[in-house]
Amino acid sequence: MTRLSGGLLAVVWLCCCVGIVGVVSLEREARVAEQEAKKDAPLPQAWGVVYARPNPDGSRKSCQNCMMFIPRDEDGRGKCSIHARTQEIKPDDTCGYHVFGTPMDKWMDHPGMDPVDPKYSGLGNVPGGTSCDVCVYYEGQGEGKGLCHAVASGDEPPAGPPPVTVEAKGCCSRWEGRPAQTEGVALNALLKKISEA
Ligand code: SF4
Ligand code: SF4
Repeated sequence: MTRLSGGLLAVVWLCCCVGIVGVVSLEREARVAEQEAKKDAPLPQAWGVVYARPNPDGSRKSCQNCMMFIPRDEDGRGKCSIHARTQEIKPDDTCGYHVFGTPMDKWMDHPGMDPVDPKYSGLGNVPGGTSCDVCVYYEGQGEGKGLCHAVASGDEPPAGPPPVTVEAKGCCSRWEGRPAQTEGVALNALLKKISEA
């Protein structure tokens, strides 16, 4: 009797283990399928990448033409009103929150504000500024316009296939500088060449 009970317990324990392994395995398969499905997901449309129209004065996007920039704080360093005050910001930095406008005269406190984390704002130094015509995904078509191969067509879901027509001096959160630009080699001449490409 004792031996039989022991045997039964062993069988039950084995069944439980097999069940648990099965559930874990199914869960893993579901996750893998989820990841696979994401690979085939359509590209985001312009609204999904926060596409911004060109600056009205034709300049590229950078802190020096952003309304949130403070060129000289009390410590003599540049700051941004939505990043932490301890974060130094240079005129030729830029980030994904850029809003064209006149920089601020001085720092203004915003009580209770949770500053933007530079790790996630896309803050970086981009001499010359950002715009579609200096983005790896841009294919110039002349007359200030080009094709973007990283944004889906259509203004509303469902998204259509890329490419989509964008303005040369527009920009979005998917912006990725062309390698030579980030190396900073003969930048101005290079940017001019790229714009004409
Ligand atoms: S860091 Fe971003 S939000 Fe701040 S001034 Fe520069 S572009 Fe504007
Ligand atoms: S070309 Fe680059 S910056 Fe312009 S919309 Fe496409 S991904 Fe964004």
